[in-house]
Amino acid sequence: MTAAGDLVTKLCSWLVPGLAALLLGWPAAPATARALDVDRDVCHAVSDTTLPDKSLSALRFSCQGTPAGYQQGSLWLRAPLGDAAAQRGDVALMVHQSRFDRLAVAFTYADGTTRWSGVRAGDYGSHWRAGGQILFEAPDRNVPLTAVTMRFDSLSDIEFVHARAIPKADAGMQSAGMAAAVGAALMLLLISCIYSLSLAVAVRRQYLAWQAAWAGTMLLWGTLWSQVHLALVPGLAGTVTTQICTFLACLAIALATVSAVTAVDRGRVPTWLRTTALILGLGVGVAGLPLALIRGDSLGLLADILGLVIIADLLAVTACIGWAWRRGSVEARDFLAAWGLPMAMLAIIHIVDVEDGFWGGGSKLMVLVAATWQALWLAAAATRRLAHLRIERDHARSAAAKAQQLARRDPLTGLPNRRGFVESVTPLLDRARADNLPAALLLVDIDRFKSINDIHGHDAGDAVLCGIARRIERWEGPMCTVSRLGGEEFGLLTIGMEGIILARFAESIRRGIAACDHNEAVGDRLVTASVGVAEVRPACDFQQLYRLADEALYDAKRGGRNKVVVQRHHDVTGSAPDREVARSN
Ligand code: GH3
Ligand code: MG
Ligand code: MG
Repeated sequence: MTAAGDLVTKLCSWLVPGLAALLLGWPAAPATARALDVDRDVCHAVSDTTLPDKSLSALRFSCQGTPAGYQQGSLWLRAPLGDAAAQRGDVALMVHQSRFDRLAVAFTYADGTTRWSGVRAGDYGSHWRAGGQILFEAPDRNVPLTAVTMRFDSLSDIEFVHARAIPKADAGMQSAGMAAAVGAALMLLLISCIYSLSLAVAVRRQYLAWQAAWAGTMLLWGTLWSQVHLALVPGLAGTVTTQICTFLACLAIALATVSAVTAVDRGRVPTWLRTTALILGLGVGVAGLPLALIRGDSLGLLADILGLVIIADLLAVTACIGWAWRRGSVEARDFLAAWGLPMAMLAIIHIVDVEDGFWGGGSKLMVLVAATWQALWLAAAATRRLAHLRIERDHARSAAAKAQQLARRDPLTGLPNRRGFVESVTPLLDRARADNLPAALLLVDIDRFKSINDIHGHDAGDAVLCGIARRIERWEGPMCTVSRLGGEEFGLLTIGMEGIILARFAESIRRGIAACDHNEAVGDRLVTASVGVAEVRPACDFQQLYRLADEALYDAKRGGRNKVVVQRHHDVTGSAPDREVARSN
């Protein structure tokens, strides 16, 4: 066999039984000091389930080989106790829950007395503890303990039986520590599930919904595995719970696969890889149902096969994410970080024996913690991405606002252009009409501007336009709005000014423009402007006002230029205007 083949065999020999144990709710790892190793420390016997418990002393136990045929009967596992705690009678037996109909535990004392206590599927009584364990304490009798016997009726598979004999104080402390750790992990999973779900609804991203479903499934798995639910539904104790756990573990793998695959952009991963990962993930999810329902010999074999499919699924998901990452997917980077820890955990728990660590929670507590980490990381990554999107949206909005503002300004002079002017004066005209205030438009057109361009060049013409714009913008104020309407034509709109005051204002504009110094651009050439003024009361709309002002400007030009012509209209639609040439130069 090749080196690669060796490695695969080795990997499978670690991972497959471990995964199977995780799925079915039982570890298959070797035991440590205080754990009872059912293959080594324990002697076994098989009987009919009808045999009464008190027949224990008459049973013949075998301390070699593996028991067989116990699935339909009773499996008796007997372990001698001899350490200091047993001498004091201070022993608690913690049995991890598994699939059985009934479990009876007998503590045997040095004086020959045997004390029984037991649980059955659907009724763990006061023996259940958070963390997936069932606790039996040896009654205090001031007599040393010699042995402990467990009797399982209709046990599904001895491979998944795991028990620990420890001092009672340790059992209490471990149960409390376990309850706290499980409680914290479940709470965080709950928060992450709600958060992902609300985020999925808010931003309509499919993978967030899958993520929420995955976190919800892990939450349910953690609740059932740790037996927290027995506080509310004691009837679920035992086989039903482990069956649901098996199904949920498979479902969680399927949901995590779908979530990871849908999170990365379609275009960044080859379709065949995505499809493979999805098929493997869904396969695991679907296989969970028969695996949960099966009892008997084929269970271990099926779990081993499923373990292989899960490894293939994990590899396919990793390949998908890795591929997308190499192609620059941000989601893939986040997912890789989120999946890194659970993957490492999965590897660690199959290389190092942790079953009796963590207050007896072992591998499953680690998986729960890893799932919590994954859920929190993904939630944090989604938040970070959302924050980025928000910042980008704000930038886009301010850029759009800036572009809008620029579209309303004339780039040469910086004054509002016709569009900006119309937008800002329309509400002013509406208000003037409502309040019956006079309104006036003053059109300022530079005289013979074309000849400036012709003689001094276009740049000189621009400089003159800018000089006049600077002068005109000084009239901008609460009563007057200014703009460059186009070419060498400027507009000023006033509200509340009329008659002689308006005429004087127009005249001051004409004079102000004529007084501008354009020496640098055009030497001592005098630059003048003609001003056409339309004064209306009540105010009309801009188009009408412009037409009237343009007529006045035309009159000013025709009258010899460098002039102001004011036209008064007291009813725009009706009578002919009063016409006044305010001043000729
Ligand atoms: P009038 O006294 O009748 O108004 O004569 P005019 O030459 O000022 O009027 P006309 O409409 O014949 O010419 C306007 C000129 O203004 C024509 C165009 O080349 C020039 N012009 C328009 N916009 C600009 C600009 O942005 N820069 C420069 N340098 N010239 C411009
Ligand atoms: Mg003109
Ligand atoms: Mg002109």
